[in-house]
Amino acid sequence: MLSTMQDEPLSLGRLLRYAGEAHTASTVTTWTGGTTRSRSYPELAARAAQLAGALTKLGVGAFDRVATFMWNNNEHLEVYSAVPAMGAVLHALNIRLFPEQLVFIANHAEDRVVVVDGSLVETFAKVLPKMRTVRHVVVVNGDVHALDAPPSVAVHAYEDLIAGEPTTFDYPVLDERSAAAMCYTSGTTGDPKGVVYSHRSLYLHAMHVTTPSAMSLSARDRCLAVVPMFHVNAWSLPYAAFVSGASLLMPDQFLQPGPLLAFMAAARPTCAAAVPTVWTGVLARLEQHPQDLSHLREVVVGGSAVPPVLMKAFEDQHGVRVLHGWGMTETSSLGAVAHPPAWASEDEAWPYRVSQGLFPPLVEHRLVDDGNVLPQDGEALGELEVRGPWITGSYYSPTGELEGSDAFDDGWLRTGDVGRISPDGYLTLADRAKDVIKSGGEWISSVDLENGVMSHPDVAEAAVFGVPDEKWDERPCVAVVLRGGATADVEALRDHLAGSCAKWQLPERWTFVAEVPKTSVGKFDKKTLRQQYAAGDLEVVLAD
Ligand code: ADP
Repeated sequence: MLSTMQDEPLSLGRLLRYAGEAHTASTVTTWTGGTTRSRSYPELAARAAQLAGALTKLGVGAFDRVATFMWNNNEHLEVYSAVPAMGAVLHALNIRLFPEQLVFIANHAEDRVVVVDGSLVETFAKVLPKMRTVRHVVVVNGDVHALDAPPSVAVHAYEDLIAGEPTTFDYPVLDERSAAAMCYTSGTTGDPKGVVYSHRSLYLHAMHVTTPSAMSLSARDRCLAVVPMFHVNAWSLPYAAFVSGASLLMPDQFLQPGPLLAFMAAARPTCAAAVPTVWTGVLARLEQHPQDLSHLREVVVGGSAVPPVLMKAFEDQHGVRVLHGWGMTETSSLGAVAHPPAWASEDEAWPYRVSQGLFPPLVEHRLVDDGNVLPQDGEALGELEVRGPWITGSYYSPTGELEGSDAFDDGWLRTGDVGRISPDGYLTLADRAKDVIKSGGEWISSVDLENGVMSHPDVAEAAVFGVPDEKWDERPCVAVVLRGGATADVEALRDHLAGSCAKWQLPERWTFVAEVPKTSVGKFDKKTLRQQYAAGDLEVVLAD
């Protein structure tokens, strides 16, 4: 029997209109390095309409890809709003990728228009000539003449382009299953792969992000989006802000701990989201330059495992609660969130809070090993597979052929993450399948060892990666960054680590580095560490 309910498609155009009409006091604010510039959501909606009008005049039609090459800022949010609403497809390019990767991705996605921040024009100029499908470049707050574009590409100034366009736009009614945006994985362990989100998937996901089971967003929040808009749509914060009315704080290019903290002092966010390495840097800066953070009710950390020592320091030293979440480009970001059970005391809550968390109702999950589905008993270790309305069912292919089909198992997405699920539903990841260390047939979790080393007071950061070993096939090697002035040696660090791991897991190889190499989105880059080790570029100390 059919229901009697109306069949209104979920669309980002509807969401944008709603934000402009219902959240009139909410704002998006960008940091300029010393001051802020803000617009209200009604102003944003009006400018998005102008942009939609201008892009239509440039010939942008249904499903044409409009890319961005931008920091998180007001104008980026305007593009985020206008492009899906008008029926085109938003594609935020990762500005930190190597030129070859950027060119590959833009050509693969067949980007037609690219909106570029003035501050990034120089970088973009190097890749533009190789982007085969780009016909228009729109420069935001910058010099259009600085871009020496090939004759096939027209260059426009953003403000000139939208000036004079009407502040309303007749957004089309769209099939909710049609493409709204696309994003490529950050390529931590392999080549970037494209995921195409639908209006429905983004809408449902944004609604969930606002709930108390996730980020608890409301119009009383000012949310600092440190996570870039090219990294899984800034974990959906822009659209979640439109649902909830939370104001958005955009750091633009000022992402180092000092400038970020200056922005926080000026704009007093109530919540913030970023990968662990950002928070590690912020914490270290706070040690030297203390600052009141009482305005922050919560920081959301995900993208890689949160070191428990980081979480504790934020809470004990600054009274800021850390919320740990797990997700992937393929899961629209949010796959699990670590809110503890209601019955748990602070002490009882801790193991739940440092886990990767509980799955939302729309993320079905299972653990698989060798084709067998494993029990969720907190013991069995297997690869996590997920499915649901905001999980991708395939990777984008310009020819329509299914790409990366070995990443899918009978309708489930194989995450490449290995972990356990407790009887009460909490996910604890041991590692990425590609990072787990196989030593003499036994598995060692690189993340567990990292957390153990990082709990030493002299350690600022530690990354553990597998290296070949004649006797055991593979053994862990630890790259350590010591805090300024700290003197701990290998013996001290090993003794400390021995308290939290089995003796046979204790690494023999240690290297002290000035900085752990990071990926384009700030994760530990273990691919590079393994290459440096193989090339003999790391000075390795062998423990007895
Ligand atoms: P990439 O796989 O290239 O890094 P993504 O940015 O989509 O691209 O990253 C998704 C992956 O990041 C996950 O599969 C997982 O390995 C890791 N990840 C994300 N959040 C967490 C977390 N909270 N704990 C551990 N790993 C995480």
